[in-house]
Amino acid sequence: MPKSDTYSPLPPWPRTDYCGTLRATDTGREVALHGWVQTRRDHGGLIFIDLRDREGIVQLVLNPERDAKSHQAGSEARSEFFVAIRGTVVRRVEGTVNAELPTGEIEIAVSAFEILNVSPPPPFPIGDEDTAAEEVRLKYRYLDLRRPAMQRNLRWRHLALRAIRNFLDDLGFIDVETPILFKSTPEGARDYLVPSRVNPGKFYALPQSPQILKQILMIGGLDRYYQIARCFRDEDLRANRQPEFSQIDLEMTCPRPEEVQSVAEGMIAAAYQRVLGIDIKPPFPRMPYAEAMERFGSDKPDLRFGLEIKNLTAAFAATSFKIFAEAVAQGGAVYAINLPAAGQLSRRELDEMTEAVRTRYSMGLAWIKAQDAGWQGPIAKFLSDAERASAAGIADLKTGDTMLLMAGAAGKVLPVLGDLRLQLGSKFGLANKDDLKFLWIVDFPLFEFSEEDKRLVSVNHPFTAPHPDDLHLLDSAPASARAIAYDMVLNGQELGGGSIRIHSRELQLKVFELLGLSREEVLERFGFLMEALGYGAPPHGGCAFGVDRLCMMLCGTDSLRDVIAFPKTQRAVDPMSGAPSEVDPRQLRELAIKVTV
Ligand code: ASP
Repeated sequence: MPKSDTYSPLPPWPRTDYCGTLRATDTGREVALHGWVQTRRDHGGLIFIDLRDREGIVQLVLNPERDAKSHQAGSEARSEFFVAIRGTVVRRVEGTVNAELPTGEIEIAVSAFEILNVSPPPPFPIGDEDTAAEEVRLKYRYLDLRRPAMQRNLRWRHLALRAIRNFLDDLGFIDVETPILFKSTPEGARDYLVPSRVNPGKFYALPQSPQILKQILMIGGLDRYYQIARCFRDEDLRANRQPEFSQIDLEMTCPRPEEVQSVAEGMIAAAYQRVLGIDIKPPFPRMPYAEAMERFGSDKPDLRFGLEIKNLTAAFAATSFKIFAEAVAQGGAVYAINLPAAGQLSRRELDEMTEAVRTRYSMGLAWIKAQDAGWQGPIAKFLSDAERASAAGIADLKTGDTMLLMAGAAGKVLPVLGDLRLQLGSKFGLANKDDLKFLWIVDFPLFEFSEEDKRLVSVNHPFTAPHPDDLHLLDSAPASARAIAYDMVLNGQELGGGSIRIHSRELQLKVFELLGLSREEVLERFGFLMEALGYGAPPHGGCAFGVDRLCMMLCGTDSLRDVIAFPKTQRAVDPMSGAPSEVDPRQLRELAIKVTV
């Protein structure tokens, strides 16, 4: 076994092949391999070692009669030792061929074997299955990365990005890097701040996206920009969020929204083609935001199954059932989901669902079952025959179906029914996982009212252009104005989105005012953009797509962390390096920063 002071940083011989690429057609070749010991089986005389590199595994045979020295070294090898070998590719004898392994028809008769580094037993097996807890996988990420699944994911990510880069390059997009040390770029999250030593008391903000910079690139005459951009958002991390993530970010001069959408469709199609060999066929269907909310209770509807929401308000317009009547009188509506007879919920499940809606949303959920003998359920007796007939007609209710009903303000009821729809879809396995249902959600509202801040906030970001047909609403009813904004959705997940931007200084100022920013604040925070807009800024627009989410969909995994080499945990910690960590008091002094916790 080599002592650490005898380790050479140079391999004893250059590699000729990857372990995993050798085949029967290589029989007779002399090869030199480098790799990790997966397993070692000592059969008395012969030692068998599975040697692994990024391309896969090949079996080594160490025969003391062929080379006693390498047999001795091989007997000392353990799992995850890194070794260099030389040998001859030979066919395996009949009966020992392993059809499971791409290299299973051959093995390497070893003539030289050197251990280049040792390893303690790894904390989890380096195999296909992720058997270890995620904290452990992240702490020993270098071992986790050796697993074939992670190798494949990172390689697919690379292939997808290469395909997208090539696609955009062919269309004349120019890859421009933008700064990481910048100023606050509002995307609705908290900023990560970096203190400036040379400007004590001042801070950079890490970009939440290169939004303003890419707009300035259009003003700067680049015409078509793209970047695989790193973005930073200091949010409370929900399951599938990372504090830093990558976007395919692009911007075009004078595009119509359809042109941006067609570029985005093309790049996603290129990625699917390159990685999975799947031909997806743009253009994708378009659905206005209002319709998506009304039919699916979501701005990212999963179209792989039905269970659409039905508006039953007309059936109950004159009802004497108090709860529905009050909702309608207050300008609300009655909505329902009709669960067909094929998939039914038990009485207990219905009660549990009602209870869950009550505790989670403080809202009421009612249900009725359509039986031969009529409607059954707690509220059935309050509804007249005419109301039942009309509701059944609208919802296409058939005997054996169950209908879930909610009444209230559309904005409150629809998202809840949208959630229930997804829960039911997953409970009854309605979504085929091989289906790819792409669509664009268009015509998002420009603003929404924030109950928390008691003012309008941007649905997208404040640079999004109002829909030209709705410009007049900015003065009278800004909350009803639509934006020229669009999101691409796949199977209920938002893949990306963008908008046409405001290129007029006056309009941008007006939008900032509607958002409650004073002129001073605008100048202080965005003065540079306002000034730039004044210098012949061309109309422009673009979009950004989440690389991590796209790769997650391509790889068929449900965790973003499986497609990021070094992700953070939900607490924004890197268990491998221990970041974030305390710093030297001297560094803090230099930065004029005092820690108060
Ligand atoms: N900057 C936006 C985002 O990061 C995308 C865009 O409008 O292009 O979501």
